[in-house]
Amino acid sequence: MTRLNIRNCARCKRIFIPVGNEKICPDCRAEDIELEERVKSYVRDHPGITVNQLIEGSGAPRNLVWRMIQQGQFENSSLKDAKYPCGNCGKIITRGTYCSECMAKLKENAQKFAVAMNKKRKAQEESNSNKTFSDSMYDALDSSRNR
Ligand SMILES: [Zn+2]
Ligand SMILES: [Zn+2]
Repeated sequence: MTRLNIRNCARCKRIFIPVGNEKICPDCRAEDIELEERVKSYVRDHPGITVNQLIEGSGAPRNLVWRMIQQGQFENSSLKDAKYPCGNCGKIITRGTYCSECMAKLKENAQKFAVAMNKKRKAQEESNSNKTFSDSMYDALDSSRNR
Protein backbone atom coordinates (compact mmCIF):
# COMPACT_ATOMS: atom_id res chain seq x y z
CA MET A 1 0.00 0.00 0.00
CA THR A 2 1.35 3.41 -0.87
CA ARG A 3 0.85 6.15 1.65
CA LEU A 4 0.60 9.63 0.28
CA ASN A 5 3.10 11.84 2.02
CA ILE A 6 1.58 15.25 2.65
CA ARG A 7 2.68 18.17 4.76
CA ASN A 8 1.56 21.62 5.81
CA CYS A 9 3.65 24.40 4.35
CA ALA A 10 5.70 25.98 7.13
CA ARG A 11 4.91 29.42 5.77
CA CYS A 12 1.41 29.58 4.25
CA LYS A 13 0.05 26.45 6.06
CA ARG A 14 -1.34 25.05 2.82
CA ILE A 15 -1.13 21.29 2.35
CA PHE A 16 1.35 20.10 -0.26
CA ILE A 17 3.23 16.97 -1.31
CA PRO A 18 6.89 17.42 -0.36
CA VAL A 19 9.73 16.21 -2.56
CA GLY A 20 12.31 14.94 -0.09
CA ASN A 21 12.62 17.14 2.98
CA GLU A 22 10.91 20.31 1.78
CA LYS A 23 9.24 22.36 4.49
CA ILE A 24 7.56 24.94 2.28
CA CYS A 25 5.18 24.49 -0.65
CA PRO A 26 6.13 25.01 -4.33
CA ASP A 27 4.37 28.40 -4.36
CA CYS A 28 6.34 29.70 -1.40
CA ARG A 29 9.53 28.21 -2.86
CA ALA A 30 8.91 30.00 -6.16
CA GLU A 31 8.42 33.21 -4.19
CA ASP A 32 11.75 32.63 -2.45
CA ILE A 33 13.55 31.96 -5.71
CA GLU A 34 12.11 35.15 -7.19
CA LEU A 35 13.26 37.10 -4.12
CA GLU A 36 16.72 35.52 -4.29
CA GLU A 37 17.00 36.58 -7.92
CA ARG A 38 15.96 40.10 -6.98
CA VAL A 39 18.57 40.17 -4.20
CA LYS A 40 21.30 38.85 -6.49
CA SER A 41 20.61 41.37 -9.23
CA TYR A 42 20.44 44.14 -6.62
CA VAL A 43 23.96 43.24 -5.50
CA ARG A 44 25.11 43.16 -9.13
CA ASP A 45 23.54 46.56 -9.81
CA HIS A 46 24.92 48.18 -6.66
CA PRO A 47 28.58 47.20 -6.33
CA GLY A 48 30.14 47.78 -2.90
CA ILE A 49 26.93 48.03 -0.87
CA THR A 50 26.68 46.63 2.64
CA VAL A 51 24.32 43.89 3.82
CA ASN A 52 22.06 46.43 5.53
CA GLN A 53 21.86 48.57 2.40
CA LEU A 54 20.99 45.45 0.45
CA ILE A 55 18.18 44.48 2.84
CA GLU A 56 16.77 48.00 2.85
CA GLY A 57 17.18 48.58 -0.86
CA SER A 58 15.89 45.28 -2.18
CA GLY A 59 13.08 44.95 0.36
CA ALA A 60 13.95 41.28 0.86
CA PRO A 61 13.48 39.75 4.32
CA ARG A 62 16.59 39.90 6.49
CA ASN A 63 16.60 36.15 7.17
CA LEU A 64 16.45 35.33 3.47
CA VAL A 65 19.42 37.57 2.76
CA TRP A 66 21.42 36.06 5.63
CA ARG A 67 20.52 32.54 4.54
CA MET A 68 21.90 33.35 1.09
CA ILE A 69 25.06 34.72 2.68
CA GLN A 70 25.43 31.56 4.79
CA GLN A 71 25.05 29.47 1.65
CA GLY A 72 28.02 31.37 0.22
CA GLN A 73 26.03 32.96 -2.59
CA PHE A 74 27.87 36.28 -2.29
CA GLU A 75 31.37 34.99 -1.65
CA ASN A 76 32.70 36.30 -4.93
CA SER A 77 30.55 39.41 -5.06
CA SER A 78 31.26 42.98 -4.00
CA LEU A 79 28.85 42.77 -1.05
CA LYS A 80 30.39 44.29 2.08
CA ASP A 81 29.94 43.21 5.71
CA ALA A 82 28.72 39.76 4.65
CA LYS A 83 30.22 38.25 7.77
CA TYR A 84 28.92 37.02 11.10
CA PRO A 85 30.10 35.08 14.16
CA CYS A 86 30.64 31.31 14.21
CA GLY A 87 27.72 29.61 15.97
CA ASN A 88 30.08 27.96 18.40
CA CYS A 89 33.17 30.10 19.16
CA GLY A 90 32.10 33.50 17.79
CA LYS A 91 34.97 33.85 15.34
CA ILE A 92 33.97 35.93 12.30
CA ILE A 93 33.13 33.79 9.29
CA THR A 94 31.69 34.42 5.83
CA ARG A 95 29.80 31.21 5.10
CA GLY A 96 28.27 28.18 6.81
CA THR A 97 27.18 28.02 10.45
CA TYR A 98 30.55 27.33 12.07
CA CYS A 99 34.17 28.23 11.41
CA SER A 100 36.42 25.57 9.91
CA GLU A 101 38.02 24.69 13.26
CA CYS A 102 34.65 24.18 14.95
CA MET A 103 33.42 22.18 11.94
CA ALA A 104 36.43 19.87 12.27
CA LYS A 105 35.83 19.52 16.01
CA LEU A 106 32.12 18.84 15.55
CA LYS A 107 32.86 16.24 12.92
CA GLU A 108 35.36 14.56 15.22
CA ASN A 109 32.85 14.54 18.10
CA ALA A 110 30.12 13.14 15.87
CA GLN A 111 32.43 10.35 14.79
CA LYS A 112 33.44 9.59 18.39
CA PHE A 113 29.79 9.55 19.38
CA ALA A 114 28.89 7.17 16.55
CA VAL A 115 31.72 4.82 17.52
CA ALA A 116 30.67 4.89 21.19
CA MET A 117 27.05 4.21 20.28
CA ASN A 118 28.03 1.28 18.10
CA LYS A 119 30.20 -0.19 20.88
CA LYS A 120 27.37 0.22 23.34
CA ARG A 121 24.85 -1.40 21.04
CA LYS A 122 27.17 -4.34 20.44
CA ALA A 123 27.84 -4.81 24.15
CA GLN A 124 24.14 -4.67 24.85
CA GLU A 125 23.32 -7.15 22.14
CA GLU A 126 25.82 -9.55 23.65
CA SER A 127 24.85 -9.20 27.31
CA ASN A 128 21.13 -8.48 27.04
CA SER A 129 20.21 -10.94 24.37
CA ASN A 130 17.36 -12.34 26.45
CA LYS A 131 15.99 -8.99 27.57
CA THR A 132 13.04 -7.52 25.77
CA PHE A 133 13.45 -4.57 23.45
CA SER A 134 11.82 -2.16 25.90
CA ASP A 135 14.14 -3.31 28.71
CA SER A 136 17.12 -2.44 26.55
CA MET A 137 15.52 0.86 25.68
CA TYR A 138 15.14 1.76 29.34
CA ASP A 139 18.72 0.72 30.03
CA ALA A 140 19.92 2.93 27.21
CA LEU A 141 17.85 5.85 28.52
CA ASP A 142 19.11 5.35 32.06
CA SER A 143 22.75 5.13 31.12
CA SER A 144 22.51 8.22 28.96
CA ARG A 145 20.91 10.08 31.86
CA ASN A 146 23.65 9.07 34.29
CA ARG A 147 26.45 10.13 32.01
ZN1 LIG B 1 3.41 27.76 1.16
ZN1 LIG C 1 34.16 28.42 15.59
